[in-house]
Amino acid sequence: MPFTIAIDGPAASGKGTLARALAERFGFAHLDTGLLYRAVGARGGDPVAAAQSLTPEDLARPDLRSAEAGLAASRVAAIPEVRAALTDFQRRFARVEPGAVLDGRDIGTVICPDAAVKLYVVADDATRAARRAAELGADPAEMLAQIRDRDARDAARDTAPMRAAPDAVVLDTTRMTIEEAVAAAVALVTSRLGA
Ligand code: C5P
Repeated sequence: MPFTIAIDGPAASGKGTLARALAERFGFAHLDTGLLYRAVGARGGDPVAAAQSLTPEDLARPDLRSAEAGLAASRVAAIPEVRAALTDFQRRFARVEPGAVLDGRDIGTVICPDAAVKLYVVADDATRAARRAAELGADPAEMLAQIRDRDARDAARDTAPMRAAPDAVVLDTTRMTIEEAVAAAVALVTSRLGA
């Protein structure tokens, strides 16, 4: 049975960093599911048609990491048909041997409710804004407004809203270094792998 790790949480909470570190540590495949929604938003035109016909080239666009692409992603991500069009791909990816790490907003709740490990990664708003501002070379106050706007939309939508699964372990990275957060996540996965 493949081993699936689901990592969810709000924007810039550190879930992508943790997902990459866990994938590398355990030799698992990694899917940043936010990239799928960013690629749909970046295509323009009909988002449902875009979600139904995403190509590897769409996912390789250089502009997908921008704050604007994040905002566009959170708008198209509220459309149920867009989410439905991306579900099978994510579920197939989650079954890759020997294991897979998926990070997003609804992995533990909707995409992989049976994941062996579920993490919900949080950090306070100012910390997340500062991290994202440093990463993108942007203004922290502007980042704070943008991630709050995005989180509010992601948490309030009717379909697959952002939330922790009841059986997720919540990891607050506000006062943690990357190394400490990775160590905590590795310890959790190691204990589940051994179980
Ligand atoms: O994780 P990232 O910031 O790249 O995600 C961009 C946007 O894509 C999120 O704000 C959210 O609206 C959407 N998303 C989602 N479900 C996921 C991953 C991302 O709705 N599993």
